[in-house]
Amino acid sequence: MKFPLLEQYGLQDQPFTCAQCSFCQVGNGACPTYKVKRRDSYSGKGKMILARTLIQGRIKPSEGLEGLRDAIFGCTLCGGCEEICQVDIPFVKIYQLLRADFLRRGMWPEELVPMKETLVDDFNVQGQDNDDRVEGWSYWHPDEDALLEKVGQNAKTAFFFGCNSSFRGVPIQGTIATLLIMDKIGEDYTVLGDEEWCCGAPLIMTGDFDSARKFAEHNIKQYKELGVQRIVTNCPGCYKMWAHEYHEFLDIDHPFEVVYGAQYFSRLIDEGKLAEFTNPLDVTVTFHDGCDAGRNSGIYEEPRKVLEHLPGVTLEELPHNKANCYCCGSGGVLRPVDADFALEINKLKVEDIEQTSADWVIAACPSCVDFMNDQLPQTGSQKRVKDLSVLVAEALGLTWDGLDEIYG
Ligand code: SF4
Ligand code: SF4
Repeated sequence: MKFPLLEQYGLQDQPFTCAQCSFCQVGNGACPTYKVKRRDSYSGKGKMILARTLIQGRIKPSEGLEGLRDAIFGCTLCGGCEEICQVDIPFVKIYQLLRADFLRRGMWPEELVPMKETLVDDFNVQGQDNDDRVEGWSYWHPDEDALLEKVGQNAKTAFFFGCNSSFRGVPIQGTIATLLIMDKIGEDYTVLGDEEWCCGAPLIMTGDFDSARKFAEHNIKQYKELGVQRIVTNCPGCYKMWAHEYHEFLDIDHPFEVVYGAQYFSRLIDEGKLAEFTNPLDVTVTFHDGCDAGRNSGIYEEPRKVLEHLPGVTLEELPHNKANCYCCGSGGVLRPVDADFALEINKLKVEDIEQTSADWVIAACPSCVDFMNDQLPQTGSQKRVKDLSVLVAEALGLTWDGLDEIYG
């Protein structure tokens, strides 16, 4: 049998290059889904062997296709297998193409259908009124009127929130922190408010490229009309879409520079714009490299540089950090497909975190922050999680009502 999308992207030979060394199963920090399931098909190696056996016709589709589908969607797209693979198989891209292939075969997991319907109806993955992207929490901002004036303004820099950072209480604090930092340094910026639609990541990650196109085109049109030249986003999933995947999977090229939040803060430090850290924090933190910023985009140094500049902050690395960092379990749209599986993966993450003496887990990803904020207390952990932007804002002496309400 054939996988037409692998052929279209010239990747149909990749499953045959696996040397079966098993590094992707047992290597340092490697595959979280294999660690939990202990079944070959839940590792990179197993998926490649199953795909090539189907391509060769050594097993019939009726014998192996459903199992491959379950394993392809039972994956966090964390990039661990790609990081460690000795023959450099581009796994994350292959998995997304195979997900698109399963959609075209009518074999998309039925659990994903409500997620898609929510996105198409509401333009955000939480299913909330899209007016609430700003208005849902603007009362937490110290100058609500000034914030609302930013909505739809012409400006060269745009702050793209992303869905978690617009609608979930804890990640919203990272949004407010970044807005206040932008105000403090005198950045001229715009936000889209209800005209910001999901970046389309949940659709692109699950292979529904056609539906994602509408979201990408909408946001691009809005920014062009406002004269935007640069997009800043705290969400590494959104960053990856804007920076790479619109081009890669939708064949869309846009004119904007795309800057991830940790890169933005790092540049501000270089430019001397973030010099007034007046509030020493006196805290030991550890840093979680979210998969889309770390392994999937190669951004490791900027967040650490930012942490080094914050007075009173001591960084204690996780046992598995940077390219070996354990996935938190929330990636790859695994949670709607199998929430319990994602929770099992998260337990491994918590075990890693518990080996540090850190008071706070710092992440630069709203999805990781949100998931870990839910799960750390469930495991009895005393540690709490904050977005990097929140720590930066606190070190600058910035305060707002939401911060007190969420973190007490
Ligand atoms: S992307 Fe991550 S979860 Fe998926 S197979 Fe590779 S290592 Fe495992
Ligand atoms: S690390 Fe690469 S070559 Fe080795 S078993 Fe995994 S997929 Fe195959």
